[in-house]
Amino acid sequence: MKLPLVFDIKRASTTDGPGLRTVVFFKGCNLDCFWCHNPEGKSPLAQIAFFKDKCIACGACRRVCTHRDTCSLCGACTEACPAEARRLYGALYDAEALMTILRADKPYFDACGGGVTFSGGECMLYPEAVAHLASRCREEGIAVAVDTAGNVPFSSFKQVLPFVDLFLYDVKALDPVLHQRGTGVTNERILANLETLRECGAKVCIRIPVIPDFNAGEEVASIRRYCEARSLPYEELAYHAFGEDKRSALR
Ligand code: SF4
Ligand code: SF4
Repeated sequence: MKLPLVFDIKRASTTDGPGLRTVVFFKGCNLDCFWCHNPEGKSPLAQIAFFKDKCIACGACRRVCTHRDTCSLCGACTEACPAEARRLYGALYDAEALMTILRADKPYFDACGGGVTFSGGECMLYPEAVAHLASRCREEGIAVAVDTAGNVPFSSFKQVLPFVDLFLYDVKALDPVLHQRGTGVTNERILANLETLRECGAKVCIRIPVIPDFNAGEEVASIRRYCEARSLPYEELAYHAFGEDKRSALR
């Protein structure tokens, strides 16, 4: 099973589903939210980031690089950098290696009702990979959540449905024009998939990012009403500017 590139694995997360979670962040997304907290997850390809404020100008990266004009993404400079000023986003795992990492936290999951969350980027761009890993987790008694913006064909959800305990489902705006303005795509398919997931009996928790100058205020209030009318649990995610440093570093 070929997996997409992973840009991070976060252990002991308390914000990506119930209990303590180990979160796998896959690279690649088909939205372009202007506030994105994880810009390193947008491209499906590996990327080198340079955090210039951390650089101490030691020159170690230059000394190890053999492809300065056409970076081969070998990662040698990131390993040589003593200041974490250079980072490689995009690691390739095979399924067995990833399962070994996920399995290690099972005692914590069992103690607190936690589990694994597949996220991104948009992990649902890779339904075969998510279904494979989620079914492996299911066999081993590990609960699985999927964090998604929902902008994929419903056939992708069908592939993962048998193995997923909870969908953390982003609703950024109900107004299609506003949604298009903030994310680069319209929301018809996202909302239709949400309705179909509910009809299938899937467990869903809505996540509403509250973004100034976008949906904060009346639009968020209308998403709340939408959720309450359908008895859908929801949580609001406060905007933070953590993505800005990474956005600059990736330029
Ligand atoms: S990733 Fe490799 S090729 Fe690219 S700049 Fe760093 S050392 Fe050079
Ligand atoms: S190795 Fe790191 S700290 Fe040293 S010059 Fe390169 S980026 Fe800057």
